[in-house]
Amino acid sequence: MAFSLTNRAKQIHKKEMTTMEKLYLPAILGGMGVTISHFFKKKRTYQYPEVKRPFAPVFRGLHVLKRDEEGRERCTACGLCAVACPAEAITMISAERKDNEKNLYREEKYAAVYEINQLRCIFCGLCEEACPKQAIYLTDRITPANYNRNQFIYGKDLLVEPVDRDKRVDITKRTEKYQQKESNR
Ligand code: SF4
Ligand code: SF4
Repeated sequence: MAFSLTNRAKQIHKKEMTTMEKLYLPAILGGMGVTISHFFKKKRTYQYPEVKRPFAPVFRGLHVLKRDEEGRERCTACGLCAVACPAEAITMISAERKDNEKNLYREEKYAAVYEINQLRCIFCGLCEEACPKQAIYLTDRITPANYNRNQFIYGKDLLVEPVDRDKRVDITKRTEKYQQKESNR
């Protein structure tokens, strides 16, 4: 006599398969029907990288440190972006501008070192909102993949936009769409 610890045990009776079930044909045809029906439905996948998925209008990606009209760095190393950053991804070292550096930095104090750890960043955009100098913006660019973690520490060499006006990073599209969305609320 078999013992059971609880009364929840159930006796399972294996049902004999019918001849049609043994052929597996109805199941195979049913499965193929499901597959074929998907050929005529709208594709939910993209042939990346040939076809890129359109981003949301307010997508926030890789940062840029902007220059002013005269090509000077706007950042004054006030540290507000670092304080606002919930991920503690921003670090900087400030320095005093010298007289012969007025064409390089807009303010008397500037960031000698400015780094963002892209692995820590959650792309919340709080640094952009906190900046009183309109110096830092998030863009619609993606941080490129890399095998080396150190490569994700982005310094000024990667963050500050080029002096050349034609090579500056365009943030107008993203900020316009963001402002539109805010005004529609
Ligand atoms: S986007 Fe957010 S998480 Fe990333 S650096 Fe700016 S404040 Fe920090
Ligand atoms: S980016 Fe803006 S908030 Fe951050 S240190 Fe520079 S001026 Fe201050």
